[in-house]
Amino acid sequence: MEIIRIPKIMQDTANGLILRGKSIGFVPTMGALHEGHLSLVRRARAENVITVASVFVNPIQFDPSEDFLEYPRDVEGDREKLLQGGVDILFMPDSSSMYPENFLTYIEVEKISDKLCGAFRPDHFRGVATVVAKLFHIIRPVRAYFGQKDFQQTAVIKHMVRDLDMDIDIVVCPTMRERDGLAMSSRNAYLDPLQRVAAAVIYRCLSEASEMVKSGIINTGHIKEVMRERILSQPAVSAIDYAGVYDPDTLDEPSEITGDVLLAVALKIGGTRLIDNVLVNVKKER
Ligand code: AMP
Repeated sequence: MEIIRIPKIMQDTANGLILRGKSIGFVPTMGALHEGHLSLVRRARAENVITVASVFVNPIQFDPSEDFLEYPRDVEGDREKLLQGGVDILFMPDSSSMYPENFLTYIEVEKISDKLCGAFRPDHFRGVATVVAKLFHIIRPVRAYFGQKDFQQTAVIKHMVRDLDMDIDIVVCPTMRERDGLAMSSRNAYLDPLQRVAAAVIYRCLSEASEMVKSGIINTGHIKEVMRERILSQPAVSAIDYAGVYDPDTLDEPSEITGDVLLAVALKIGGTRLIDNVLVNVKKER
């Protein structure tokens, strides 16, 4: 596995591969890798000649009050996992090469960036869209792989790719979960053992809500109430940012269920913010 740290070298390498007819599949990550990330790597390897993964904790997607400095980092572990996972190139730039002095250009995907997580993390998706666009230009993939766990992120990226005519397939992969259903996340490492047990309430709540939708309940207000009650029954939860039923395209909250729905939750356990979601295909499931 080749390790590249300089954007220009990565770009020259990608150009060379493309000239030789090799398709590049790309998996962007912020490191502290787990089985969720590795599932994206497996999918990329299966569908492309060359697999590039990036590890970059992107400073511009963190609010000043957030955990940028404390965000878990495990460079050696990541390197080993990606090597074992069969990644061809690991791109690991530092902040100053991605954001040189006098960096002035940002990408904003309007409206959908302001909903759900965006309402609580004001410049988050601007930072995500900007770094992903940069990585796409540097790595020049045919396909890029993202996890459904960050559903809103996939919606923002798909929109950016469509609006800016980027010729890249965005592949959304299923959420990998622990045995009790908790979505794997680098931030789970922040949880102490009691908090870790409590965190399973997120998936229990989403599963229960999903059953309600499948049983034919169409009143989203009722489902939201049950979701909030279920979450609040867990005293370790310190705040609910949102929990409810959303339109997967617009991320708006419909009052009644008429098509497919996104059930989504963001909450805090102690100081740790966790998110998860499930999609319910109403036509298929009812
Ligand atoms: P992150 O390192 O958290 O920025 O995540 C990098 C990529 O891995 C994103 O596309 C995430 O959606 C994806 N990812 C994170 N956790 C999971 C998971 N549990 N299952 C599947 N994909 C995941």
